[in-house]
Amino acid sequence: MMKKTELIKIYDPQQDAEGVRRAAELLRQGGLVAIPTETVYGLAADACNAEAVRAVYAAKGRPSDNPMIVHIADREMLPELVASAPPAAALLADAFWPGPLTMVLPRSQRVPLTTTGGLESVAVRMPSHPVARAVIRAAGVPLAAPSANRSGSPSPTTYRHCIDDLWGLVDAVVESDDCAVGVESTVVSLLGEVPQILRPGAVTPEDIRRVCGGVTVADAVLHLLPQDAAAPSPGMKYKHYAPAAALTLVAGSQSDYAAYVNGLYGERCRAGEDGGFYAMCFDEDVSLLQAPTISYGAAYDYASQAQNLFDVLRQLDKLEAAEVCVHAPEPEEIGLAVYNRLLRAAAFRVVKL
Ligand code: AMP
Ligand code: MG
Repeated sequence: MMKKTELIKIYDPQQDAEGVRRAAELLRQGGLVAIPTETVYGLAADACNAEAVRAVYAAKGRPSDNPMIVHIADREMLPELVASAPPAAALLADAFWPGPLTMVLPRSQRVPLTTTGGLESVAVRMPSHPVARAVIRAAGVPLAAPSANRSGSPSPTTYRHCIDDLWGLVDAVVESDDCAVGVESTVVSLLGEVPQILRPGAVTPEDIRRVCGGVTVADAVLHLLPQDAAAPSPGMKYKHYAPAAALTLVAGSQSDYAAYVNGLYGERCRAGEDGGFYAMCFDEDVSLLQAPTISYGAAYDYASQAQNLFDVLRQLDKLEAAEVCVHAPEPEEIGLAVYNRLLRAAAFRVVKL
């Protein structure tokens, strides 16, 4: 059933106070509102209202065992959501909240199993985005807010992406600026003895090690899990972020990448099969390539790669790309998060030169 979707303008929470009030009102009534955060746009609903959360799964087409992150505006909102928190939680909150870090902790009874995808743990984050914080505060409830895209498609980093995916399926989309980080938050589990990174993001393993003294990175971050393995983070088992084209990650130096892509493109041209072939590359690669190119940033500017990634993946669909050779980023700093997302978008097809 189609819904009437409102576009609510909030660039500045003070100047656009009426927009904040309207978004909060819809959320308190159990509505769904796409809101900006510093990572990606989130599709928000009252995290403690199971019916509202079920509507989020439905609007996204998200499998119901893929848990949601609960967003809070103040540290005081945390104790009611979790049954307990180890000392590392306070250390990490001091260091990285508000910001792009999500912590997985034992859930309290207040958080419905619908929100946690049936798990006895809950993922919690305090975003730094002023609009997200203003809306959470005005709603007065913690907000479940998975990425505001249809499940499986690239995450939304502009309000236009949310409109493309969710218009007619949600109550409102907040019109605001593009997201500064561009990839989803780092997810760290504090359920074991040593913090474990389940999903890399802008807060790096090294950042967490510095604060907690130790950290591990889940296998699934860089490797395809066997079909029957239990994923520590359910989201990692799904195909993700993928445009319609077949992507291949190509890892190697600038010259090796150019030689590989030019060779393959030459073959496709000779066979008359070059329609829809694209090189998704770095700025520095463009002049070396014969195939049509689309750049996602400078080779060593990992932050700009993260910022551009999902928009470029969406542009590939608009260009009707069919075969795409992506120059793999260095898996360093936030580049690890970019690499992790691209691996999934490429269904783990990697060519190492
Ligand atoms: P999204 O909301 O689309 O950014 O996805 C949130 C992701 O966080 C999920 O797909 C999970 O992989 C992870 N996550 C959320 N809650 C938990 C949890 N309780 N335990 C482990 N991973 C979680
Ligand atoms: Mg998502």
